Amino acid sequence: MILTVTLNPSIDVSYPLEHLKIDTVNRVKNVRKTAGGKGLNVSRVIHMLDHDLTATGFIGGYFGKWLENQLDRDGIAHDFLPIDAETRSSIAMLHDGGKQTEILEAGPTITPEDAQKFLDHFDKLLDQADLLTISGSMPQGLPEDYYTQMIAHAGAKNVKVLLDTSGATLKSALEAPVKPLLIKPNEEELAGLLNREVDKTDYAALKQDLQDPIFDGVDWIVVSLGSAGAFVKHQDKFYHAAIPKIQVVNPVGSGDSTLAGLAMGIHDGKSDEDIMKTAMTTGMLNTMEAETGFVNPTKFDTYFAKVTIENY
Ligand code: ADP
Repeated sequence: MILTVTLNPSIDVSYPLEHLKIDTVNRVKNVRKTAGGKGLNVSRVIHMLDHDLTATGFIGGYFGKWLENQLDRDGIAHDFLPIDAETRSSIAMLHDGGKQTEILEAGPTITPEDAQKFLDHFDKLLDQADLLTISGSMPQGLPEDYYTQMIAHAGAKNVKVLLDTSGATLKSALEAPVKPLLIKPNEEELAGLLNREVDKTDYAALKQDLQDPIFDGVDWIVVSLGSAGAFVKHQDKFYHAAIPKIQVVNPVGSGDSTLAGLAMGIHDGKSDEDIMKTAMTTGMLNTMEAETGFVNPTKFDTYFAKVTIENY
């Protein structure tokens, strides 16, 4: 089973508006509300491609109940730790020909008691898991090394960890003795980790960048490059995964879909080439749908066949 972690899930509300008017009323007809937070995007894609998973994290209040109902409706198994505070909402206004203005609630502050309770809950879930994905930023109240603690718990039970986060939490995970199996930094996150500029179009330079000692002990580093695919390091091998030109409808959540593909490929014990092809396909399929963290499985084989992997 794949265990997906979304510590700060969210009800994602999308408001399409022809024009966003400031300091007055905006009326919206077609509101879309989905179970969000990066880890739940990952979960939806894994589920749509027929793999077993359980989604976990903190959940609270009436909004939390609504979110769990959505997951039940979609047939996505979940086992969240209930907390007293309400789960957050995130609002995205899509307006003025392609502009996106977002209002993101910080969400609940986790108490030290709930932080400890979750680790105990998580330990039980780890007993049924062979692979774990951790996505997104952490809610307020948790220590910076909380993901690092979770990775150590997973390591103690031989559960592989795929980590998609940024900033101080990612840095903390790379400095810890038990490393994640895979990280998925983008250009900006890579530059932040290395404290220097990174040019994602220069693959020879990227190859050097990924050999920095900061990454020692991390098996897989996947640098996703949007329409240019991804540059990948697996142990001492380097690859460029190239993808065809496609019609993009909504790229939001592509990185999460890519992580879902990596999780399924690694979980299934596929070859490097097939792991990367799966991940590029799930990323592409997400961009072709209006909904975030959503893929059309009937298109999988066609696009999988169009991904090419080059050794670098
Ligand atoms: P992130 O959301 O983490 O920044 P990317 O934008 O790099 O991630 O997208 C992740 C993956 O989704 C890419 O590696 C690719 O497979 C697919 N993808 C994203 N944007 C495009 C695009 N414009 N055209 C084709 N595929 C895309």
